[in-house]
Amino acid sequence: MELDLTRLGAADELRVRVEELSGQRLAECYQCGCCTAGCPTAFTMELGPQRVIRRLQLGAGEELLELNTPWVCASCETCYTRCPKGVSVADVMDALRQCARMSGISPPESAPRVFNDRFLGTMRRHGRVFELEVGLFYNISSGDFFNHITRLPSLVFNGKMKPFPDRASRSARKKIRRIMERVARLERGEDVAVENAKGAGE
Ligand code: SF4
Ligand code: SF4
Repeated sequence: MELDLTRLGAADELRVRVEELSGQRLAECYQCGCCTAGCPTAFTMELGPQRVIRRLQLGAGEELLELNTPWVCASCETCYTRCPKGVSVADVMDALRQCARMSGISPPESAPRVFNDRFLGTMRRHGRVFELEVGLFYNISSGDFFNHITRLPSLVFNGKMKPFPDRASRSARKKIRRIMERVARLERGEDVAVENAKGAGE
């Protein structure tokens, strides 16, 4: 993907939003590249973590949100453990995903979006992740019905994947659904400040 270099340094809006959401100070990064060198998914990224940080430092705009990079980040935090400046790139990627959703920008490839939707769907239903359901629904939604299906019996047999959901309590599920509804409204740009204030008083 081409980045709009004419916009670099023009607004800095995205950097400010990402710093607020992630709690990271991007000026701390001195571009050593340790994050990209250790990142297990960098080979699939349109722009590696180090370069994403650099673009943000320079004031890149929303074209950065159209990259696949934040969506293929596995949040493994290898970058954080390697970063000599303590920058949590995983939190930066998370902030970029939030910014993309708030701007109505979908991941460039459908797989991460489908996986995210299936993952959140299972959280909404059970209050906890139910991997078997995520995997099966992902295969159905993506049309790749037999993706890793031969591994399923051994995963279940060896206790790596539960055959039934381990559901959270009813009240915990209710709280999770409320959080998800608030996030959905935030993503639509609705004002949830009043409700937040109400929730804080509960
Ligand atoms: S490891 Fe840290 S300092 Fe080095 S490039 Fe990555 S974020 Fe910047
Ligand atoms: S958290 Fe994301 S960016 Fe960092 S090493 Fe893991 S996959 Fe790469």
